[in-house]
Amino acid sequence: MATGKKWEIIHIPDRPPTPIDQQHTVDVVASVIEPKHANTLVRRLNKLVPLEDLRHIKRVQKKCIEGIIQLSVVLCLALENENQWEENMPDDVCELIKAYQLTPFITKVAKYAASTKEEWEAQCKFWPTSYHPPTYNIDGITGFSEGDSQLIFDFMKFALKLTKSGPQVVNAAVVVDPLVRQVIASACDQTFSSRTTADEKTSFDTDFVGHPETVSSYQSNVNGIEAIETLLSNCDSVSCLFPWKWTENRRYTTNTGSWHPLRHAALVAIESAAARDRELFPLFGKSPDQKTEIDPAKRQKIQVSNDGNNMVLKTCSNGLHSEVSRPYLCTGFDIYLVWEPCAMCAMSLVHQRFRRIFYAFPNPNCGALGSTQRLQGEKSLNHHYAVFRVLLPGTRPL
Ligand SMILES: [Zn+2]
Repeated sequence: MATGKKWEIIHIPDRPPTPIDQQHTVDVVASVIEPKHANTLVRRLNKLVPLEDLRHIKRVQKKCIEGIIQLSVVLCLALENENQWEENMPDDVCELIKAYQLTPFITKVAKYAASTKEEWEAQCKFWPTSYHPPTYNIDGITGFSEGDSQLIFDFMKFALKLTKSGPQVVNAAVVVDPLVRQVIASACDQTFSSRTTADEKTSFDTDFVGHPETVSSYQSNVNGIEAIETLLSNCDSVSCLFPWKWTENRRYTTNTGSWHPLRHAALVAIESAAARDRELFPLFGKSPDQKTEIDPAKRQKIQVSNDGNNMVLKTCSNGLHSEVSRPYLCTGFDIYLVWEPCAMCAMSLVHQRFRRIFYAFPNPNCGALGSTQRLQGEKSLNHHYAVFRVLLPGTRPL
């Protein structure tokens, strides 16, 4: 595939897309039914022979043939032996066939739920399915506006700038609240002693204010293809790419105070976001006794009230009132990572309830969001985020 000349955003679906003309199918037994029996039959079939592994399949197919509506229903899965499917049908289904005078036939349905709209359209040519991947309702799956795209590029440019500070190329993470379009925290890998906690920044730092206008000023530094090649050819210190690299460097370093093998950029950024929370919401999580120890003058200025899932901070400054909602962990936030996160970092982003993950470069060694695994499609998890790759000029899709 050709390399692009422009910045681009591509959605990384919950599982690798299947070529449109190679959709996996499975045989089922179906029958045309009378529309007046549809509700009763579907209710009984769902109870007697639920399609547990085919929940994406719609039980009823509706066709319009020469102006007449024709309904067909999936009765059950067809057993493997094509010629003996009639003999192997469950007794309950046989009774229904007899009672409603049905004429069963074999047809094909999609074996897996569609991960893209194109796949879903191809599947529906066999038999109708639903299209509801876990992240379907998250903004951006169906495209970004021009303004939103530009903001995303600007935040990624800021993350790229962070990878080049210091002697090594490292991974960088930028946590953003998309509602107020502001950087909440940013950080680099801290798995080597040459980097210190001074490398992490939050929107409280005096030398950086996380508004998009400030972020845009980094644009000219990272727009060249050469810079990207430099990053990619010097990335052997990126923690998510080489999680065991620290074992080599440990032997040559004397300062062990500021590094830790688990301080990957995403984890440091999360820690920084939590520190910001503690600063903004000093009363959160305190017992009533502890609250009384807070300076009375400060208490007059800050009131915290419980508003459903959020803690609402009300401050009074120069006579003007403002409200800042404290989200649960990083709920609703986006994170920008220069390299695709490893499984440890990707899982920490699940725990933190991030909404969208953007990364620039794939991680063929340990990438958990597209390269070696797709955590975003893991059904057993209780939270799902949407994943996007920001394609830089001169790079190519996977
Ligand atoms: Zn990692």
